[in-house]
Amino acid sequence: MNALADLGAVAAAAGLMAGGYAYAANWPTSQIFGRTLIAGPNDTGSTHAVALTYDDGPSPRNTPALLDLLAEHNVTATFFLIGEHVRKHPELARRVAAAGHVIGNHTSMHPNLAKKNKARVREELTRCQQTIEDTIGVKPVLFRPPYGARTRSVLRTARVLGLTPVMWNVTAHDWDPIGVPAILSRIDKGMAYNRSRGKASNILLHDASHLDGAEPASRADTITVTRTLLQRPALRFTTPLEWLGT
Ligand SMILES: [Zn+2]
Repeated sequence: MNALADLGAVAAAAGLMAGGYAYAANWPTSQIFGRTLIAGPNDTGSTHAVALTYDDGPSPRNTPALLDLLAEHNVTATFFLIGEHVRKHPELARRVAAAGHVIGNHTSMHPNLAKKNKARVREELTRCQQTIEDTIGVKPVLFRPPYGARTRSVLRTARVLGLTPVMWNVTAHDWDPIGVPAILSRIDKGMAYNRSRGKASNILLHDASHLDGAEPASRADTITVTRTLLQRPALRFTTPLEWLGT
């Protein structure tokens, strides 16, 4: 273990003792809890490479409009689907895949995996994987932990199942009722920071809520923000698959 890793372990231990566990576990770019894929290098030209990633879907309230919008701009995005929502909306899940988007595993029931035992973690990942394979006919290779909550054990289990854990480096907070300008401001700040460090941006967005029941949450702001981003000529849209191995 090198000095930096030691420092990380000390910081993690201090965080645990100080009750900072949730922060450390959810800090999206932290590698303290194991290696995750975040983003590759930025483009060498004037464009900024951006992955639009949507969690918690599919949602009959939002996903169709989002798919139409992405299709208008011929952009491929990434959807981390919840198994339970795929089981409820199989046709919609198939539509997401048929449009050419990358399908990722976001667990079967969206628990905080850092608080579950190994058997439950494995069940959450395999059940979501099976649902997606049976319903959509694709086998995901990417996995995003709910709430970004992870441990070394969770990440190891994912890798054993052939899944690369994917975090993000721009938190849009589009699940908070903060409005379009505030969401865009967060995204712009995040992208500027990543660009200044020669990094691409991996933006966390939501086309659904993990709490969706009979009355699915509206993600109208997410769709408006997406439309704004798609109209920016300086952005090049990609997916985390491009960054595998970087
Ligand atoms: Zn989620």
